[in-house]
Amino acid sequence: MANKLWYHEGLQFECTGCGDCCTGEPGHVWVNKAEIEAMAAAIDMEVEPFQQRYVRLIGIRKSLTERPGGDCVLYDAASRTCRVYEARPRQCRTWPFWSSNLDTLQSWQEIARDCPGVGSGQLVASQEIRSQRDVVRV
Ligand code: SF4
Repeated sequence: MANKLWYHEGLQFECTGCGDCCTGEPGHVWVNKAEIEAMAAAIDMEVEPFQQRYVRLIGIRKSLTERPGGDCVLYDAASRTCRVYEARPRQCRTWPFWSSNLDTLQSWQEIARDCPGVGSGQLVASQEIRSQRDVVRV
């Protein structure tokens, strides 16, 4: 019999909109061509200038640029909102249900320290968690 996932009964998560996952510690937000096009369109820019301004090359992959300190370049600190929210990339859409965060109960508890939505609010079913986890490998 297959082992049950440690989160087979689901996990609580509800975003508070605090913006902490868009700011702070440096990291990567991996983006593909379709996502770059969608984000550029969302703020009425041509793809090429959007890439030059907001996308950096890391090896052969592309990631959103960060401000000094690590804040996402598309995060608007004044309104505490994402400038491309409706067109945000898969990595942002599927937070916090990334495979790296779901590895163990401990890894899940660790991200709860930085994300107040983790462990509170609505219960998300394990089937939904798995489908989000499998959208992109992070
Ligand atoms: S850190 Fe968590 S609660 Fe805050 S905006 Fe990000 S997902 Fe939402």
